[in-house]
Amino acid sequence: MMVTLRMMSHIEFKFGWKKWRSATKVICDRNVPTKLKGKFYRTAIRLAMLYGTRAMAGAGSCLFCQIARSATSTPLLHSDDKVVAFQDINPAALRHYLVIPIEHISTVKDLQRRKEHYDLVNHMSSVGQDLLNRDAPESKQYRFGFHQPPFNSVNHIHLHCFALPFIPRWKHVKYMPLGPFGGFIEAEKLLQKINP
Ligand SMILES: [Zn+2]
Ligand SMILES: [Zn+2]
Repeated sequence: MMVTLRMMSHIEFKFGWKKWRSATKVICDRNVPTKLKGKFYRTAIRLAMLYGTRAMAGAGSCLFCQIARSATSTPLLHSDDKVVAFQDINPAALRHYLVIPIEHISTVKDLQRRKEHYDLVNHMSSVGQDLLNRDAPESKQYRFGFHQPPFNSVNHIHLHCFALPFIPRWKHVKYMPLGPFGGFIEAEKLLQKINP
């Protein structure tokens, strides 16, 4: 059975943003007793069965890797040998797309001051820009950026592409730069940071 983004989103919704993060942390944390890990696995497996998917139960299975390999029913708005793009399952703006690299890179902290990474992020941005230009030419403002850990919801980097306004308006708080706390980083700023 295919994993759909809707299923994932529902599971994420059930856990809540914060709880989901602490839940995934349990699996990674070596200090957590095996018994507790087992309990989490049982919950995860029960959820997975509930949603009719086995993939969710497997540790290390990355939903965005599956989307990038077209192993899900998520419609792709763009795909090439480096990136794919699709609609955010929980759109927060007039248009809200995600562009992800096919290669699994966990978070923006894994991006280095290297031409390869710079070119990748640059390409992700231009794909996002082209899509928004095509699909939301009436929008007066576009925004592009990434969540920085611990504010990222899925551990596979994804560029959020917005054609504003945010809908509803308060949604902008989820995509705000939080200064020293990290939060959301604009693609332009990230590019400056990793410019070799
Ligand atoms: Zn991945
Ligand atoms: Zn995100």
